[in-house]
Amino acid sequence: MKKYCCEMHVNHALDVVVAETKEYPLLEKLEEEAKLSTKCDYCENEAKYIVSRK
Ligand SMILES: [Zn+2]
Repeated sequence: MKKYCCEMHVNHALDVVVAETKEYPLLEKLEEEAKLSTKCDYCENEAKYIVSRK
């Protein structure tokens, strides 16, 4: 499971993943080139972070 999120939605994405998995997720920064083609899962901004299961 992976969620892409912008700066504004980092906390929201973390909450969602914690609620779904009952575990604290990994939070990583997206690489520069990936940012350009990836949108936040919760709004239209470009994604800056990726939240994933350990
Ligand atoms: Zn967002």
